[in-house]
Amino acid sequence: GFKMGIVGLPNVGKSTLFNALTRTAAAQAANFPFCTIEPNVGEVAVPDARLDKLAEIAGSKQIIPTRMTFVDIAGLVKGASKGEGLGNQFLANIRETDAIAHVLRCFEDGDVTHVEGRVDPVADAETIDTELMLADLESIEKRRAGLVRKIKGNDKDAVQQDRLLAMAQTAIEDGKPARTVAIDEDDAKAWRMLQLLTTKPVLYVCNVGESEAAEGNAHAAKVAEMAAAQGNSAVIISAQIEEEISQLEADEAEMFLTEMGLDEAGLDRLIRAGYELLHLETYFTVGPKEARAWTIKKGTSAPKAAGVIHGDFEKGFIRAETIAYEDFVTLGGEGPAKEAGKMRAEGKAYTVKDGDVLHFLFNT
Ligand code: GDP
Repeated sequence: GFKMGIVGLPNVGKSTLFNALTRTAAAQAANFPFCTIEPNVGEVAVPDARLDKLAEIAGSKQIIPTRMTFVDIAGLVKGASKGEGLGNQFLANIRETDAIAHVLRCFEDGDVTHVEGRVDPVADAETIDTELMLADLESIEKRRAGLVRKIKGNDKDAVQQDRLLAMAQTAIEDGKPARTVAIDEDDAKAWRMLQLLTTKPVLYVCNVGESEAAEGNAHAAKVAEMAAAQGNSAVIISAQIEEEISQLEADEAEMFLTEMGLDEAGLDRLIRAGYELLHLETYFTVGPKEARAWTIKKGTSAPKAAGVIHGDFEKGFIRAETIAYEDFVTLGGEGPAKEAGKMRAEGKAYTVKDGDVLHFLFNT
C-alpha cells in the first residue's frame, strides 16, 4: 500500500490530526514538544462514494474500501540532521514513505507553545526543508565516497548512481530540493531507489483555527502561494474540528459540518489530495459477496493491477473483463452492462482506468 509520513515541527497539530485520521488514542496529543516519540502507524479507509453505489447495485454483502497508511513521525527541530532532537529516528522513518504530509501551524493560540515562539508557517516550512536538504547532502556525500572503488572497477550501476547523486548534490548545494532535478526516463528507477528525502512529493497541511476551516486565513494563503511556486500542493484543515468530528456518529458529523459551513470532512480532502499527489487511481471488483476498491498508480497495466490483489493473478494473467464505472451505474450492473455490449475483454497491454470495474481471468 501507499504510505504518507506526517511531519512538522513539534506542537503544530500532527498528533491531533493523526488521531482524527485513525480515530485512535494511540498517538497522544499533548501540549508538549516531542510528544510523539515512537512513529505511529495508522491505516485509513479512502472515502469513495462510487464504491457504495456499486455495492448497492450489485447487492454486495460487504464493502471493503482501499486503504492508505499514515505514519505520524516525531517532530523535527532545527539541527535535527546533526543528531539533535529526534533527528535520526525521524530520518529513518521518513525514508520509507511515498510522500510527505507537512503540517504547518497556521492557528494562533497563546496557550499552545510554538518552538520558535511565533506563528510563521512559511519560515517553519523552510526550517524543515533545510533539515531535509542537509540530511540528503550528508547521505549523498557518504554514498559517493562509498562508490569510488566500484566506479574504478567500471561498475555500470555505480557510475549511474554516482552521476545521479552528483546531480542531486548540485541542486541541494544550490539551495534547491532534489525534486527540482529533471530526470530522464532511463534514470527514473535508479533515481527512485536513491530514496532521497527531498525527492518525495509534499502536501502542505495548513492547520487553521476552528473558525477558519472554511475560508482559511492569511497564514494559509501564504502557504498556498509557496506551494504553488514549488509545484507542490496545500490543503486547509482544522485538526481540532477533525478531532471532534472523528468522535461523532456519521449523521451527527454531517450536521456539524453543515454548521461549520463545510461540504465535507477535511480528512476526506486530505486523503484525496494525497491520492492526487501520488498520482493514484482506484479500480473496483464487484460481486454479491463483496465490493472492493483497489489502489494503483496512474498508468498501471492490467496484469500489474491484478497483481495488487494477488501475485498469482499477475503471473497467470489471461485477460480482464472490464466495465467502466459510468456504464455499470447507468445500465444497472454487470448483467445489463454485458447485454449492452459494455463489458470489454482487455489483454495484457490494457492500461487500467480510474473507476474500472474489473474481473480478472488467470491461469493457476
Ligand atoms: P504535534 O506535536 O505536532 O503532534 O502537536 P499536537 O497534535 O500534540 O498538538 C499540540 C497542541 O496544540 C495540543 O495541545 C493540541 O490540542 C493543540 N492544537 C492542535 N491543533 C490545534 C488547532 O487547530 N487550534 C488550537 N488552538 N490548538 C490546536
